[in-house]
Amino acid sequence: MVEFDCLVIGQGLAGTALAWFLRWTGVRVLVVDREERITSSKIAAGLITPITGQRLIKSWRFDDLWPAAESFYRRVEIESGSLFFHQIPMARLFSNSSEAEVFSERVMAADFRRLIREPQPPLDRSSFKSDHGEFEMTTSGQLNVIQYLAASRNYFARDRGYLAADLDPERDLKINEFGIDVPRIGVHARHVIFCQGIDAIRNPWFRAVRFRPAKGEILTVRIPELLEKRVIHSGIWLAHVERDLYRVGSNYEWNQLDNVPTEKTREELVRRLTLFLRLPFEIIDQHAAIRPIHRNQYPVIGLHPDNERLGYFNGLGSKGTLQAPYFANLLTRVLLAHQGDYGRITIDHEVDLNHRAELRGCHPWLN
Ligand SMILES: Cc1cc2nc3c(=O)[nH]c(=O)nc-3n(C[C@H](O)[C@H](O)[C@H](O)COP(=O)(O)OP(=O)(O)OC[C@H]3O[C@@H](n4cnc5c(N)ncnc54)[C@H](O)[C@@H]3O)c2cc1C
Repeated sequence: MVEFDCLVIGQGLAGTALAWFLRWTGVRVLVVDREERITSSKIAAGLITPITGQRLIKSWRFDDLWPAAESFYRRVEIESGSLFFHQIPMARLFSNSSEAEVFSERVMAADFRRLIREPQPPLDRSSFKSDHGEFEMTTSGQLNVIQYLAASRNYFARDRGYLAADLDPERDLKINEFGIDVPRIGVHARHVIFCQGIDAIRNPWFRAVRFRPAKGEILTVRIPELLEKRVIHSGIWLAHVERDLYRVGSNYEWNQLDNVPTEKTREELVRRLTLFLRLPFEIIDQHAAIRPIHRNQYPVIGLHPDNERLGYFNGLGSKGTLQAPYFANLLTRVLLAHQGDYGRITIDHEVDLNHRAELRGCHPWLN
């Protein structure tokens, strides 16, 4: 058996960030992923948007999460020798007059004003319709998620810290007093952390964690005449990818939970795009995936209350790019504290796995 301190199951935004932080503290990590073609992370646009929704609300804990995300992606870029994180401005065009009214209230607060300015340069009126006004956000960014995941995977694989495998959380893990054996891949680890995204719904160790997942769809479109590189938000978003290719998203579907793109959503995204884009476009591609969203809407991290060798990191919802680094760092400190290398670490109630009393007693060998 090859020995590791930590086995991370899942190499999406959650597992990848966790693996980096663990490695930076000297923990020997093996990341295992089953390499599905479509996952939530693989189709995500990677946007970090500070102000969102019709009510123009500042994103939850943005002042903590943004600096953590920015410095994390920069460090990974340096270590992996690859560029995938771009701090780019985003323009928000009001869809109606009530959004403009909300804006005039919000803009009174210094905290809000700090994140915005007049669009610079001004919006090109021959490309966009904006009848109710607009503003620009500057503390914002876009992660090329596919490149980031690939660069990380290649980096981990260099010292055998990555393996392609589909592990069954129940049958493949043999837990004993020294740790966890995974005979199928010839590995022994002191901890296993599940970063499975929506697949955690079927994980017997954490089945008491309740989800409210949402399917989302994204179009890739070609807009030959558009020169805009900023992300444009107006009900939906339009984000530049490369050359004349852009991505358009997204919607929330709570009932039909699968990875199958639909004509209905394609038509809806096209309808909403034409509300603010004046230029002709051609649809190149369409993808769908399920966002892992917990009932309480927050990410959840922690060690299992009945067996601290098992950990959990999930529920990144629609903000995995922003949230993953901060909470991966926190979970790393929780793990080190468990091994006695740190003092006690406090996790806020809303994100603390152990705050879920219902989880106690939820494991296959007792039920
Ligand atoms: C349409 C759409 C657009 C989005 N746009 C954005 C955006 O602009 N900005 C943003 O921040 N977020 C966005 N998101 C949300 C973002 O994608 C999620 O927050 C994030 O991907 C969740 O990452 P994760 O690692 O938890 O899950 P996942 O990406 O699902 O990763 C889990 C990984 O674990 C693997 N796995 C699961 N079980 C096993 C097993 N038993 N053995 C081996 N491997 C396993 C899976 O194959 C997968 O690779 C978007 C999501 C969608 C659907």
